[in-house]
Amino acid sequence: MKATTPAAGTTGRPTEQDWAAAVDAVRTGLRPGARVLLVCHVNPDGDALGSMLGFAQGLRRLGVTSLQCTFPGPLTVPEPLHMPAMDLLIPEAEADPAPDLLVTFDAASESRLGALVDRLETATVSLVLDHHASNTGFGKVSLVDPCAAATSVVAAELLRRLDVPLDRDMAECLYIALVTDTGSFKFDLTTPEVHELAARLVATGIDVGAISRRIFDSRPFGAVRLFGEVMGRAQLEPASAGGRGLVYAVATLDDLRKHDQPPYVLEALIDSVRCVAEADVALLLKQVAPTEWAVSMRSKGGADVSRIAVAMGGGGHRLAAGFTGHGTAEEIIDAVRERLAAQG
Ligand code: 5GP
Ligand code: MN
Repeated sequence: MKATTPAAGTTGRPTEQDWAAAVDAVRTGLRPGARVLLVCHVNPDGDALGSMLGFAQGLRRLGVTSLQCTFPGPLTVPEPLHMPAMDLLIPEAEADPAPDLLVTFDAASESRLGALVDRLETATVSLVLDHHASNTGFGKVSLVDPCAAATSVVAAELLRRLDVPLDRDMAECLYIALVTDTGSFKFDLTTPEVHELAARLVATGIDVGAISRRIFDSRPFGAVRLFGEVMGRAQLEPASAGGRGLVYAVATLDDLRKHDQPPYVLEALIDSVRCVAEADVALLLKQVAPTEWAVSMRSKGGADVSRIAVAMGGGGHRLAAGFTGHGTAEEIIDAVRERLAAQG
């Protein structure tokens, strides 16, 4: 998709009625004594956490006092993604069983909410903020903009419509979300609006150099050696993906053990795979259990990897998607290769 912003209503972008419904939904959370629960997707990335914690600070500004933020799974945040307002994070087990307002962030499907999915039923009002074209349309009120580069673009626009002034901590969270999902303003959805939002965020005084170094340009020496080893085993198949080329790499639990690294260091590895000039499609398998793999896919435009991810039980965007694969690495690579061939 090129960096254009077609009119609302013609492309599945939110209409003015959708924005008004979202503003109304948030207002239910502003009633005295209202309990608000914010949830982002499992294994949160910068956009999931940053849009949630940025929005949370906006709600605080509006006077919300009973406010919880959480995500499914263990309550650990990789060090590169540490950001302001993390004190609002609570373990999922402590999440309000029936909040007045539930807001979800960056989750394309209910499955991304893990055991917290039941809050969609128990919450009085549920609001879904997202930017995945593959979003399944769950939630009572849904604000999904497939043309937005990040969920934080949607969250920031909603805060603007609620007349919330940006402050530095709020901006840092929203900026981390924006800079991670746009690959530092390099990906295709980096529109004028993205840069306008970035300008508003940077104007609050955030330290963009320090943020970028922490997130993108800093990793343990062991991770650098691990990357070298995994990339040394990468395979290029010029004839795959309809002749446009497939490159893939496999990072195993043994690799992590050998270099004494936590799994999150592998999140940056897809960038080394996707830069291979001879391949349209890049595939990275990250082992999470003996027969379970977190799979990342990237396309340069020839293939729609979101369709493959959805077919494999995951989701994402046309040029960046993922899923959880079961079986051996070879079986998963075979399945992806076949689906790529079927796309032509
Ligand atoms: P990444 O490869 O960086 O983990 O994810 C790329 C994109 O695919 C992100 O937009 C992410 O939300 C989506 N994605 C990655 N893994 C999964 C998954 O297991 N399920 C779903 N629904 N989406 C995923
Ligand atoms: Mn996102």
